[in-house]
Amino acid sequence: MQAKTDWNALDDASFRQEVRRFLQQNYPEALRYPKTRLRWAEIRDWYLRLSEKGWLAPAWPVEYGGMGLAPAKLMIFTEETERHGVGRAPDMGITMVGPLLIQHGTEAQKAYYLPRILSGEHIWCQGYSEPNAGSDLASLRTEAVLDGDHFIVNGQKTWTTLAQDATHIFLLVRTDRSAKKQEGISFLLADMGTPGIERRPIRNLAGHEEFCECFFRDVRVPKDNIVGELNRGWTIAKALLGFERIFLGSPKQCQYAMARLEELIVQRSLGADAAFMDAYARLKLDLLDHMALYERFADQVRRGETLGPDVSMLKIIGTENYQRIAQLMVEAAGCAGGLVGDVELDGDSFDWLTSYYNSRPATIYGGANEIQRNILATQVLGLKS
Ligand SMILES: Cc1cc2nc3c(=O)[nH]c(=O)nc-3n(C[C@H](O)[C@H](O)[C@H](O)COP(=O)(O)OP(=O)(O)OC[C@H]3O[C@@H](n4cnc5c(N)ncnc54)[C@H](O)[C@@H]3O)c2cc1C
Repeated sequence: MQAKTDWNALDDASFRQEVRRFLQQNYPEALRYPKTRLRWAEIRDWYLRLSEKGWLAPAWPVEYGGMGLAPAKLMIFTEETERHGVGRAPDMGITMVGPLLIQHGTEAQKAYYLPRILSGEHIWCQGYSEPNAGSDLASLRTEAVLDGDHFIVNGQKTWTTLAQDATHIFLLVRTDRSAKKQEGISFLLADMGTPGIERRPIRNLAGHEEFCECFFRDVRVPKDNIVGELNRGWTIAKALLGFERIFLGSPKQCQYAMARLEELIVQRSLGADAAFMDAYARLKLDLLDHMALYERFADQVRRGETLGPDVSMLKIIGTENYQRIAQLMVEAAGCAGGLVGDVELDGDSFDWLTSYYNSRPATIYGGANEIQRNILATQVLGLKS
C-alpha cells in the first residue's frame, strides 16, 4: 500500500505522468474502451490492483485509505483514466457510500464498511429509483417499518445498475408515511444476501443485463444500518451530489465516438458527400464548443470552487451531442448500420450500433435532461416552475 504518499505534493505534470505510466503498465489492454458496463468478474483484478496500489479511492481522505487528492489532482486522475479508456468498475461504494459514510456515518459504520469497500469484499449498488419514482424520487414507496432492533423493508427498486454483482445496496426508504414527501425518507444500508431480497436482471436494448429490478419482501435490516437520522435521508441523498457532477458532462465519450466516426468517413470516402460533411462539420463544432465549456467548469473545480446549477448545461450538451454523433455514425455505415456487434468494413472493424445503444440512456441517467433543463430554467434563469 502506498496510500500515505502525498500525491498533492507532486507538480501537476509529474502526477499526470505517474498516473499515465501506472495505467499503461497495469490496466489490461483487452479492457480498454469497453463497449458495455463491465461485470465484476471482468474488472475484479483491476479493482484489486488499484486497491493494492492505494489508488482505489482517489477522493477519499488519506486517513480512510484514500489518495486524498485535491480537486485539481482529482481532475488529472480522472482525465487520465478516461483518456486511457479505463472501464468503470462497480464503483458505487467508492463514489457514493464511502464519501457518505465519511461525512455522515457513525464510527462503527466507517470502521466496518470502508475497509471492506477498499478490499473489494463489499460491492455496492444504488437503490433509489422505483417504478413511478425516478425523476420524482421523493414519491418513492418502498417502506421500512421499525420492529425492535430491525427495520422490515417491503417494496421494489428498479434500474439498479449491476445489482446482480453487488453484495450490498444503499436504499432510500419511506419511514414516515404521514410526513411531507421528502421528510419521511431514510437512508438504509442492506446486505443483498438478506432473506427476502430478490433480483431480476433487465435486458437492455443492446441485449446486456446491465441493471435489475430488486424486490424486498419482509426484509429484516438491522436498525443500526441507517445512515444519519431517521427521516432525514433526503438531505443525506442530496449531499451525494458534489463536484463529481462535472464528470457526467465530460466530453470523452463524444471525443471517442467522433474519432470512430472520422475513421469511418475516411474508410467510406464520405468526404465527397457534401450533405454528410455538412452534418459532420456541425457536430465537430458542437463538440469543440462542448470541450471549451467543460474546460470552463473544470477550471472552477481546479480553483476549488463549488459548481453551481449552471453545470446542468454541460450534461445536456454532452449527452445530446453524443446521441447525434452516434446517430451519424450509424448513417455513415450505410446498409451495414443496422448490424449488431463488430462488423468488418473495408478491412477495418467497427461497432457503431453499440455506440448508438450506449448513447440512448445517457440523456436519462444522472438526472434526465428535461430535469436538468428545469434546473437551468428555475435556478439559473430565475423562471417560475
Ligand atoms: C442506464 C441507467 C442506469 C441506471 N442506474 C440506476 C441505479 O443504479 N440506481 C437507481 O436508483 N436508478 C438508476 N437509474 C434510474 C434513473 O435514475 C431514472 O431512470 C431517472 O431518474 C429517470 O426516472 P424514470 O426512468 O422513472 O423516468 P421518469 O421520471 O418517469 O421520466 C420520464 C420522462 O419524463 C420526463 N420528466 C419527468 N419529470 C419531468 C418534469 N418535472 N419536467 C419535465 N420532464 C419530466 C423525464 O425527463 C423523462 O424524459 C438508471 C437509469 C439508466 C437509464
